[in-house]
Amino acid sequence: MNQGTEVNTATDLTKPSLAGLTRAQMGDALTSMGVDAKSLKMRVGQLWHWIYVRGAINFSDMTNVSKALRESLEHHFTLTRPTISSEQISKDGTRKWLLRLPSKGAYDKGAEIEVVYIPESDRGTLCVSSQVGCTLTCTFCHTGTQKLVRNLEPSEIVAQVLVARDALGDYQGRPETDKREGARLISNIVFMGMGEPLYNFENVRDAIHVMTDQEGLQLSRRKITVSTSGVVPQIEALGLEANTMLAISLHATNDALRDELVPLNRKYNIKMLLDACRNYPGLSNARRITFEYVMLKGVNDSLAEARALVRLLSGIPAKINLIPFNPWPGSKYVCSEWDQIEAFSDYVFSAGYSSPVRTPRGRDILAACGQLKSETEKMRARARLMLEDTALLEQNSVNGLD
Ligand code: SAH
Ligand code: SF4
Repeated sequence: MNQGTEVNTATDLTKPSLAGLTRAQMGDALTSMGVDAKSLKMRVGQLWHWIYVRGAINFSDMTNVSKALRESLEHHFTLTRPTISSEQISKDGTRKWLLRLPSKGAYDKGAEIEVVYIPESDRGTLCVSSQVGCTLTCTFCHTGTQKLVRNLEPSEIVAQVLVARDALGDYQGRPETDKREGARLISNIVFMGMGEPLYNFENVRDAIHVMTDQEGLQLSRRKITVSTSGVVPQIEALGLEANTMLAISLHATNDALRDELVPLNRKYNIKMLLDACRNYPGLSNARRITFEYVMLKGVNDSLAEARALVRLLSGIPAKINLIPFNPWPGSKYVCSEWDQIEAFSDYVFSAGYSSPVRTPRGRDILAACGQLKSETEKMRARARLMLEDTALLEQNSVNGLD
């Protein structure tokens, strides 16, 4: 494990950065610099290619841009990313970066967000944040206890991918990427870090457009999953305007318990939430919704609840993702016993659902359900087999995120 290495990059905060900007924002920036309207689209395309496809961190690398324009860009802008305050690398290859964002004004010291990369044999998943903190207060979630909350800009969301690609050398033409014959190390993105993505919908949507643009970060929409605690009025818009995979943090099968665990349920109850799911644009057996279910000992982990879960989801193309509870100091819950998780998973599986247990990855740097350590590998292999059995491997199963 490589604990807390300082990998600070040179940061020039006196000029705005172009890294992470949407096409419209980049167009505005170039216009402000005097680029004329006629060549704007072409210039934005060139810069996008260098920044997102090639991973340029200096304007001087942009060899097909005229010298005069490069100098002018240098004069007005930077390609600075958020500063990496620390990088931790787990024995299993999971990496966690703590990023410090530039201050937004006198009262903002520069918030910190976490980005996690989880490599697996068939994919590499990056877990990104959509907000600093979260205004919701799910009782089992540590993020919900943080006081400081603000929405991330689209560029701050995109920059999380850039920082990870920088660190992994994951750009076209870079040796690390080429080892995998052109496949990107980061193939999947999950919005399961800090924050409620659908409370920052426009910025998340704009960031997804940069991620999926074929001249941008070139990721597939089907490999991007947005997880929500149930902001019902925005679910349809997510499908229509971002067209990504959807994950729902369900965690309970009745309103009384979900009111307690996910207080947003008092506003949008289970029925409203599942109705929105049934109407999710593009939903089909090939594009299932993932229902996340955190396993809390003695709270929501009985077999009666497994039965209720299966009943509740009937008719919805779904996958169920059981998440061992990850305890944090002061949390009032305990992770379910392994046998119970297994029995729950078996029931759900026998009812026809793929039900991988999200295995704690990077436990040495992330702290997860400690008691599961030796059992986890077995379960992981089993979950994989189950996925293969049901030919669902392609379906964006989200593993290993705490
Ligand atoms: N706000 C969004 C996305 C971020 S949380 C949401 O709630 O869906 C990503 C997932 O981690 C959610 O399913 C969330 O319920 C789960 N989670 C939060 N705290 C957890 C903990 N301590 N242990 C296990 N899972 C947790
Ligand atoms: Fe945590 Fe998600 Fe609930 Fe926010 S909505 S408190 S991030 S689980």
